[in-house]
Amino acid sequence: MTTVVQVENLRKSYGAKVAVADVSFAVERGEIFGILGRNGAGKTTSVETLAGLRRADGGSVRVLGVDPRKDPQAIRTVVGVQLQEARLPARITVIEALHLFASFYPDPADPEELLGMLGLTEHRGKQFAKLSGGLKQRLSIALALVGNPQVAILDELTTGLDPQARREVWDLVERVRDSGVTIILVTHFMDEAERLCDRLVVIDEGRVVAAGSPAELIRGGNDERTFRMRL
Ligand code: ATP
Repeated sequence: MTTVVQVENLRKSYGAKVAVADVSFAVERGEIFGILGRNGAGKTTSVETLAGLRRADGGSVRVLGVDPRKDPQAIRTVVGVQLQEARLPARITVIEALHLFASFYPDPADPEELLGMLGLTEHRGKQFAKLSGGLKQRLSIALALVGNPQVAILDELTTGLDPQARREVWDLVERVRDSGVTIILVTHFMDEAERLCDRLVVIDEGRVVAAGSPAELIRGGNDERTFRMRL
């Protein structure tokens, strides 16, 4: 197994607010790795730090040997990020958005291939504002992949989606993993983590409070009900 992401004793505060107190985890190539926790637990801050979008106060982060603090340019080509809420101009079409984002990268993926992989081909000419929630999420996954990253961070993908759209997005996440991309999946749904993740950490108040495979966590007494109470 090859470790592609190594996070050790990560710390990050916003003024007096400690968002991440002490987070460590390692992600192996080809897995779907979950970061589970309730609102405000420190999940987004952790992944934004490893994507180079925020600067850590302490600890160390390496993604395929790249330190996001020292090499923010290189980290952009290694890690793709799906933003929690894609902010795009209302009238940009699906295919225009993909071409626009592709132009920001030295070695982009083929937008037509991404349309096919994410089931967006028939929606290519639709304007962003007219897409359903599920289609917006598919587009945001495609945009995370457009730089041809080896690691993709998918943050709160299915919040607000109906059960059918959730299942469709889950199938697509597996398809992306099967295409060779290692995935870090941020979620506050245990059922989603159980369905998709090979391993996960649970973060609470900026610290890792549990780690393992979904089955190990459930065997350890963290059943769905306990998680719901804790999250
Ligand atoms: P959510 O599921 O709501 O996205 P999260 O687990 O991703 O939550 P973070 O967004 O990392 O958590 O936030 C961790 C803590 O840091 C929260 O208390 C949040 O209010 C605070 N925080 C996040 N961003 C900022 C900021 N820019 N300035 C000040 N405080 C912040």
